[in-house]
Amino acid sequence: MLDTSRLRSLGDELLAFALAASCAGCDRGGTLLCTSCRGQMRPKPLVLRTPGGLRVEVALPFTGVAARSIRRLKGEGETLLARPLGEALSGVLATEVVSAALIVPVPTSRTAYRRRGYRVPDLLVRQAGLRPQRLLRTISQRSDQRGLGIQDRAANVFESMRATRGGSERVIVMDDVITTGATLDEAARALRVAGYDVLCGVALAATPRHRGLIGDSSATRRI
Ligand SMILES: [Zn+2]
Repeated sequence: MLDTSRLRSLGDELLAFALAASCAGCDRGGTLLCTSCRGQMRPKPLVLRTPGGLRVEVALPFTGVAARSIRRLKGEGETLLARPLGEALSGVLATEVVSAALIVPVPTSRTAYRRRGYRVPDLLVRQAGLRPQRLLRTISQRSDQRGLGIQDRAANVFESMRATRGGSERVIVMDDVITTGATLDEAARALRVAGYDVLCGVALAATPRHRGLIGDSSATRRI
């Protein structure tokens, strides 16, 4: 005998699933990232400098499809998006300098790790085909960086990290999204103190604030 109430609830579940699987870039249903949006994730490499002078190779601007996909990965637990994002990252990781060094992701705060159950920078490095080296840990709880200007961000993260062991290897620090570069500067500082030779930084994406574009009022207000 047909149990219509069960069918209806199954239908609801399928509908919920179809709704959940919408393109991160354009919301088209039935896919996490449609072909056209995937095409927009091709790396557009740029080189930046942090306030501390560290050179950072960046795969993508934090705009459009890339920004929406990263937000879904970081905020909505959509870990399948780490694969196309990791592919974009692999473009900047596939250089000679990088292959001769250890890739050290910035540490994920305990709160963020508890909330997500995964470390975004580490996940991206693995999806890019490399092994992340967790040589850094957070030693003090920082307040939220959002809404802070360049100097406040730097002060907020200063001495917030420590290397888990000393060493003299060549290392590259890695973050998912770079805003002012303060976090990468702190990662580089902590590794240098422990004896490492920090070559440069890499990031999946950089916000327009960092790229010096005008138009984002929060970016220009405090600078
Ligand atoms: Zn799309």
